[in-house]
Amino acid sequence: MGSLRIMELHILDEIPNRLLELSPAELHEVLPGPTLLKIPGEKEPPFFISTLLHGDEPTGFLAVQQLLNHYRMQEKPLPRSVWLFLGNIAAARNHVRHLPDQPDYNRIWKGGTLPEHQLVAELLDILKANKPFAGVDIHNTSGKNPHYACVNKLDGPFINLGKIFSQTIVYFTRPEEVLSRALAEFCPAITVESGLARDPFGVDHVLDFLEQCLALESIPEDMNNPAQPRVYHSIARIEVPDNSRIGFGETCRDTDFNFVENLESMNFVEQAENTLVGWRHNSDLKLAVVDEHGEDVSDGFISYTNGEIRLIRSVVPSMLTTFAPNVLDDCLGYLMQRYSLE
Ligand SMILES: [Zn+2]
Repeated sequence: MGSLRIMELHILDEIPNRLLELSPAELHEVLPGPTLLKIPGEKEPPFFISTLLHGDEPTGFLAVQQLLNHYRMQEKPLPRSVWLFLGNIAAARNHVRHLPDQPDYNRIWKGGTLPEHQLVAELLDILKANKPFAGVDIHNTSGKNPHYACVNKLDGPFINLGKIFSQTIVYFTRPEEVLSRALAEFCPAITVESGLARDPFGVDHVLDFLEQCLALESIPEDMNNPAQPRVYHSIARIEVPDNSRIGFGETCRDTDFNFVENLESMNFVEQAENTLVGWRHNSDLKLAVVDEHGEDVSDGFISYTNGEIRLIRSVVPSMLTTFAPNVLDDCLGYLMQRYSLE
């Protein structure tokens, strides 16, 4: 039996009433589902902004709301047209990443058979035909991380766009099904990770970033300027087995795996060889460290001795999270290496 669900991409040429006042959880009152909102400005082509692909990551929407309110109050047009995609409205209503019967909205951008795949394929066709100035997909992280930009190509415009947001840039090619990678086929595109969802500094920072992007005439190609960013290459992700029981800190033993309490403080800090990551209580189970080709490379990264889980070599982790639902739904975090642009 095929899915009977039908999903429609809603396209609006006007900002709906109350959109600029509602919280992400209230957006369903004015938007029936995933929506592309075309807001005219003084310059073309449009700057494409995506947010709320994950329903529990409000910072991007709150920043866009402030941006649009600012221009509305001043009765000024935007310096450049903005095409705003608001993704998982239904998940935002429930303050969750995605609903149980939905796919992860940042893993649907490389084809597939679900209604969501068809919806975003339609959106990508529209974008491709209109060649956006640039594309930005705004997220929060569930664990503590510095604000950083992700690129899927190391070309000048991508790095220079990322640098407007942060001097910390992560380059990755997996997962392949993310929006920024699909956008990278036809315009400079980045993902921005703007810290924890409830940090008001994140909204200010994203707002400032969006204002700077809108003011640009063009995005520089040249990478040979003095302020080189710190670029990390994401080489593997750490997955826990489905349905395993996980905990944090040393005390609880009624689990399959426990991870160190200060796990999130390891993000973006070089971890030496032999660093303790956690404890394994069920020797039938193994963590999976999966590289960019989808290969299990666990034996090169993780050892289990006397129940302790340790790093075999030095790495820089990112996105390590102690938010158990995301660990089970997505992953524990990523392992990176410093990358030289030369
Ligand atoms: Zn996200």
